[in-house]
Amino acid sequence: MKKIILTGDRPTGRLHVGHYAGSLKRRVELQESGEYDAIYIMIADAQALTDNADNPEKVRSNISEVALDYMSCGLDPEKSTLFVQSYVPELTELTFYYSNLVTVSRLKRNPTVKSEIQLRGFNTSIPVGFFTYPISQAADITAFKATTVPVGDDQLPMIEQAREIVRSFNSTYDEVLIEPDALLPENTVCMRLPGTDGKAKMSKSLGNCIYLSDDPKEIKKKIMSMFTDPDHIRIEDPGKLEGNTVFTYLDAFCKDELFAEYLPEYNCLQELKDHYTRGGLGDVKVKKFLYSVLMEELSPIQARRKELEKDIPAVMEILHQGSIQAQKVAAQTLDEVKHAMKIDYFK
Ligand code: ATP
Ligand code: MG
Repeated sequence: MKKIILTGDRPTGRLHVGHYAGSLKRRVELQESGEYDAIYIMIADAQALTDNADNPEKVRSNISEVALDYMSCGLDPEKSTLFVQSYVPELTELTFYYSNLVTVSRLKRNPTVKSEIQLRGFNTSIPVGFFTYPISQAADITAFKATTVPVGDDQLPMIEQAREIVRSFNSTYDEVLIEPDALLPENTVCMRLPGTDGKAKMSKSLGNCIYLSDDPKEIKKKIMSMFTDPDHIRIEDPGKLEGNTVFTYLDAFCKDELFAEYLPEYNCLQELKDHYTRGGLGDVKVKKFLYSVLMEELSPIQARRKELEKDIPAVMEILHQGSIQAQKVAAQTLDEVKHAMKIDYFK
């Protein structure tokens, strides 16, 4: 069986370090591994509109921003197909057919949908499109016969939903669709990177993000006001690591070899943690170190972004070509789906 990746992001803002840790960095590694027959990276504009119907300009303006983030992180259009969801109408058609295989009560039970409804304050006025977006995500994944979906752990219920749809479709009609597997980051803190406010998840919708393209000054400001241990008041007080966002980010991004350059009195992260929990180490020193660690990772990405930003039409053309390519693949799957469903009357 072929090994195929499909994953993507909503163009609701520029991408942040949570995306990078949870999925983007891994995608680039997988792309470079050469182990995959095809890699599809989708900018989910139709999905973004399900909870931003009144703000099309936001979605539109973030298409190129997300593409710039992709390419500056190392996603290479020669090796991965970068495309825009709405340019592939076959995905909508698949969604429509898959809807018959999913019950309303099943969608209501989806924990991600539940928490996102709460987060967005939809209460009883949930847009139907938003409520059913797990079905459209199943269409996105299966249209490309994806075997592997690199995501953060907030997406696990979506992959489970997609797997159920595949099983239901294949047993009802014919063995056309492939059951996908989620691929989570190996480093557990990266599965759901908290926001700078220490809240559950860094998320564009929560405004608690460090964006990949933030100005270094802005990044420093965000780090300096980051949530740590509220009981660690004086330097000599022992500090707690649990729930301490600065240490969570160090767990996500720090490499021990960086100590020699930026904090030579320690050899490794464990030594820094031991000092913090013992007492005698101030938050500011740890935060300055985190800034250096993060900039070590982000500086080359930001430099590439500056170059790419000089020619936005070229970036849009890459998405256009990728979308044409993606559409052909989805059309092939849709043909097979319609054949299996016995609705290919005029063939
Ligand atoms: P929105 O608030 O519009 O939903 P978002 O910040 O949650 O935006 P998405 O576009 O929904 O971002 O997520 C894209 C991908 O990035 C998904 O695979 C998701 O699991 C992953 N991801 C998003 N936020 C994080 C995070 N804080 N930690 C790890 N992975 C994340
Ligand atoms: Mg999200």
